[in-house]
Amino acid sequence: MEQFECAIIGGGAAGLSAGLYLGLSLRNTVIFDNGTNRNRVTKKSHGYLTRDGVTPNEFKHLAMKDIQHYDNVKLVNQAVKNISKTEGRKFLIHTENGAIFEVGKIILSTGIQEVFPNNINVREFYGKSMFSCPYCDGWEVKNQPLIVIAESDEHAMHLGKLVYNWSKDIIIASNGHKFKERTIELFQQKGIEIIEFRITKLRGDNGMLKAVEFDSGMVIERTGGFISPTYKRTNDFAEKLGCEINENGHIVTDDWARTSEPNIYVAGECKNLKSTSLSIAAAEGSQVAKMVNMDIINENF
Ligand SMILES: Cc1cc2nc3c(=O)[nH]c(=O)nc-3n(C[C@H](O)[C@H](O)[C@H](O)COP(=O)(O)OP(=O)(O)OC[C@H]3O[C@@H](n4cnc5c(N)ncnc54)[C@H](O)[C@@H]3O)c2cc1C
Repeated sequence: MEQFECAIIGGGAAGLSAGLYLGLSLRNTVIFDNGTNRNRVTKKSHGYLTRDGVTPNEFKHLAMKDIQHYDNVKLVNQAVKNISKTEGRKFLIHTENGAIFEVGKIILSTGIQEVFPNNINVREFYGKSMFSCPYCDGWEVKNQPLIVIAESDEHAMHLGKLVYNWSKDIIIASNGHKFKERTIELFQQKGIEIIEFRITKLRGDNGMLKAVEFDSGMVIERTGGFISPTYKRTNDFAEKLGCEINENGHIVTDDWARTSEPNIYVAGECKNLKSTSLSIAAAEGSQVAKMVNMDIINENF
């Protein structure tokens, strides 16, 4: 059984950045990744200094290349299936291929995935012409006729105003939700149409949106759009390991990303179930790695 000081579960922006810092800190580290980073569905990645416009694959490939420079860090392209505690205050990590690794500290950085309204076929278009983050993809669809799908007043107020920054030709669809009068008035003052019928289908080819169909029979032509999904973690490692989770589903940590369980840390979007960006996730990853390293130093000094 291979043994490591640290394991990083999830090699997205947060996990790979943590891996780089642990590599620099001479820590014997293993990173597990199963290739389901959230931005894998899109063509271009924006907003990361020096890497604006690269594909998500290229971004990840370059990050892994940086890490491979440090031979104290091992990359394992396998899904982690289970994590258990040993009596000696260590952890056993079981992968999908049946391999077992013993580690002293764990960083959870497995990200989040979107949950879309189940009556809309968003997945077919997501990352190609339908998006969730205007900062990431607004520039790519600027000035196009767009649909903004927002199922609450709060989401409409936020996403509708935001997307209007990139295109004045937007229609807001509530997917059946009834907006408050003042929400409707605000958008109407800007000449923005609001449709409160339920969406029955997004139409298009190869992920490129052409039209939106409603249960009233109405069909509107649109070439792209934005939606506010909710988010979930795709595993219950934190719960099973006994980490405290608050009423919003966030993993509770101290200011330094230590969870309530000794030797378990968390980085990236899986902590707060909130969509952020590559740069924010990477910054969190580097921060948590520094904490892991300092904790090991303090334990052994
Ligand atoms: C369509 C779209 C476009 C986007 N465009 C941009 C953009 O242009 N610019 C930008 O800054 N951000 C963009 N983002 C947001 C960006 O993808 C996230 O902010 C970022 O990926 C979060 O990093 P993370 O490390 O927390 O999670 P992720 O990058 O999602 O990484 C989590 C990693 O954990 C791994 N994992 C999960 N479970 C397991 C397991 N059991 N075992 C092993 N590995 C596991 C996954 O394979 C994955 O690689 C976009 C997102 C989407 C959906």
